[in-house]
Amino acid sequence: MPENENTYFHSVSIDPKACRGCIHCIKFCPMEAIRVRNRKAVITAERCIDCGECVRVCTSHAARATVDNLQILKDHKYNVALASMPLFAQFKNLNDPNILLTAILELGFDDVYEVAVGAEIVGNETRRYIRQHPENYPYISTSCPAVLRLVRMRFQNLSEHLLPIQTPTEVTATLALKKAMEDTGLPAEDIGIIHISPCPALSAFSKEPLGIRKSKITGNLSVKAIYPLLLQKMPLVKDNPKKLSHASSLGLGWRADGTGGGYITEKYMSANGVHNVLKILESLEDDSIDGLEYLDLYTCTGGCVGGTLNVENPYIARADLRSVRAHLPKRIPKDELPFSGDISWNQRIRFDDVYKLGNTMQESLRRLAAAEKIEKEFPGLDCGSCGAPTCRALAEDIVRGKAYRHDCIYFLRDHIHALTMELNTISDDINRTILEDKGHPTAQQMERLQDYITQLWAELNELDSRFK
Ligand code: SF4
Ligand code: SF4
Repeated sequence: MPENENTYFHSVSIDPKACRGCIHCIKFCPMEAIRVRNRKAVITAERCIDCGECVRVCTSHAARATVDNLQILKDHKYNVALASMPLFAQFKNLNDPNILLTAILELGFDDVYEVAVGAEIVGNETRRYIRQHPENYPYISTSCPAVLRLVRMRFQNLSEHLLPIQTPTEVTATLALKKAMEDTGLPAEDIGIIHISPCPALSAFSKEPLGIRKSKITGNLSVKAIYPLLLQKMPLVKDNPKKLSHASSLGLGWRADGTGGGYITEKYMSANGVHNVLKILESLEDDSIDGLEYLDLYTCTGGCVGGTLNVENPYIARADLRSVRAHLPKRIPKDELPFSGDISWNQRIRFDDVYKLGNTMQESLRRLAAAEKIEKEFPGLDCGSCGAPTCRALAEDIVRGKAYRHDCIYFLRDHIHALTMELNTISDDINRTILEDKGHPTAQQMERLQDYITQLWAELNELDSRFK
């Protein structure tokens, strides 16, 4: 698990046994949360937003998302699966969502509920909310938990723009739990609500949500793990699927491929991919976004179909989702939507400045000045050989006491060079004593020589260890 445990629950972690210290992930982490130390990647937990970028790029499969497995069905007397919207996009030529939903029941679930229904409820509520609250335009959608965590950690002054509405998955979980209790007469603690999740951020969020006190979701399975099992079951049920689907085309597409923003308002911007999202939030922070009411943001490329726990390429998945959506009603009439109660946030969000350099303003300013000075000593190549993503990040690690100047191989090389020059000078000095003065080297000269040789040896060993 990540190194600092006094933060939010995380789904993403790095297996040190599988990590080969290639530094690939440090370049892709949008939060600069990963460092490679002693040839192993380590996540700084308080910075991680579980976006899954490291999972996506790690070819050694050392960066992983932890989710549950089907054994979790044994934990409760009655289990309901929440079928995430991207799940429908993983299958070619799926012209009847009921085939997929029936196959899910075949895995051992007692019931299944589509997250698309919750998405439609959230869409309606979002529309109502932003019309009634023009004071904080533009609102940032909070259905992507990674976006929410990103704002919480890095853009605290945008807090009033956060849309205080629960995620479609959470709203669906509430509906599913209510229905299960009504159907079975069981108490909530006997019912498992298991989300088939497209991304680690949603899984982590269900363990430790923001904006609500506790999630109704009791477990998470990955789309990836369930996909091959469903491929086996679907042909068995395709001729006689149960009528389970209640979703509409709007609900299924809204969060899955980011095509729902236009339904909320005409004055919206939709963006996906964590680096694009970062740029938009920076622009909003700089007041350079004008005239918009709603920002529909997803950290995964392509929206939730791009989640790292999916199987299919996001662009292919988007196309496949269109074909399922074509077989669904356009939208669920408002009076047919299940009653969800109040879906607004009921818990204040704690904002943490995880990038501050010190505990007090004074200390932060002092360290900032020191980091700027140290950064100038480095070559500015941002090569990552030190284990930090940029020279600036290394300088900040140094002022926090978490790294050394010598972690920079260029700094180390220059230092070795300087030591070699010093050795040369001492050696010349000793030679002069022997040849010109016809004397013996002094104890002081020998001591200096020994001292420099020891230092050089240590530095060479340090350099060597980087390449082992
Ligand atoms: S990408 Fe990161 S986690 Fe994966 S092997 Fe390389 S350093 Fe380790
Ligand atoms: S999940 Fe995202 S934020 Fe967390 S370490 Fe990986 S890339 Fe960085």
